[in-house]
Formats: sequence, C-alpha cells, structure tokens
Amino acid sequence: MATLVLPNPSLVALVGAAGSGKSTFAARWFAADVVLSSDAYRAILTGDESDQAATRTAFSILHREVARRLAAGRPVVVDATNVERAARRALIARARAAGVPAVAIVLNLPPTLVHERNRGRTGRVVDPAVVDRHLDRLARTIARHELAEEGFDDVVVLRSAADVDGASVEWRTG
Ligand code: GDP
Ligand code: MG
Repeated sequence: MATLVLPNPSLVALVGAAGSGKSTFAARWFAADVVLSSDAYRAILTGDESDQAATRTAFSILHREVARRLAAGRPVVVDATNVERAARRALIARARAAGVPAVAIVLNLPPTLVHERNRGRTGRVVDPAVVDRHLDRLARTIARHELAEEGFDDVVVLRSAADVDGASVEWRTG
C-alpha cells in the first residue's frame, strides 16, 4: 500500500483523462470542502457539468478560488483533467504566488479501462474522441517527463487500477 503524504498546505492537481477516476479518488481521500472541481463550476454556471461553453468562466472562477484559499493557508485539490500544459501552468503559478508546494497525482490508467469507465458512467458520458485526446496529451506529458520540469514539487503516477486501489492519502501534520 503506497501512502501519499501531502504537504499541508499545498496545491494538489489531479491529472487524468475524463473517466480515469479523478472525482472518485477525490471523494475517497479528500474532504469535500478541499476539492475544487471544474465540472462543479460548469454545473453551477449553466446547470450542466459538461457544458463546454462555460469552460472559460468556470476556470476563471476556479483559479480565483484556488488563489483565495491558498492565500488563506488552506490546502486545495483541483479536480480537472489537467492534461494540458497551460492548465497545469496556471495552477503552478498560483501555488508559487502563495509560496506553497504543488503536487501532481496522475491517474495514468490503461486506455481501455478509461473508455470502459467512461461508457459505464451513470451521469454524463464524455465523447470517446475527447477521451482519446486527453489520453494522448497525458501519454505525451508522461513520456516527456513534463510534470517535474514544469515545476511540480512532487509527482505521483498511478498506472493501474491496482495502484489506485493500493494508494492511500494523508496530509502531513506538523
Ligand atoms: P473522472 O472523469 O476522472 O472524474 O472519473 P470518475 O471519478 O467520474 O469515474 C468515472 C467512472 O469510473 C465512474 O462511473 C466511477 O464510478 C468509475 N470509477 C472510478 N474510479 C473507480 C475505481 O477505482 N474502481 C472502479 N471499479 N470504478 C471506478
Ligand atoms: Mg470528474
């Protein structure tokens, strides 16, 4: 069982394709009031968590809230795909501005499993082509070792369902 010990406060970015299990992982390991989700902001704005037209505004609110909480000394977990470098950079910049570490927890699961989970979702099923784009971006990110280079202080990559099941998360105390 791998225990991820996270600095408190810190900014934790979940990274993974739609369907990889980010929100499930967040709900399992983090208090709801620590997690900021791009889907939740889309839902608040439009009543539809998949409404891509709300993306820009959703992220603008999410980033402001990240900065506000970090400035107040609170930890933040960002539940968004974060497969695009620009998305990750925006988060790292806010961690830097607050003087707290940035940690990436990557759900780099087999594509067949991710597609299967996406198809099996009760609520919203994401277009498989979009999931493939996420998987492709993530594969490149991992292959190029981009995460540490971008400035994440710690990078944890979970590569299988067994890795995810075997992981546990704790905030470092003291
Ligand atoms: P996200 O798009 O990355 O936030 O993925 P979700 O957390 O919404 O998970 C997508 C689907 O996979 C949901 O139907 C979840 O119930 C399922 N799922 C996520 N994590 C696990 C897991 O660890 N085990 C199993 N069996 N199903 C999971
Ligand atoms: Mg989700």
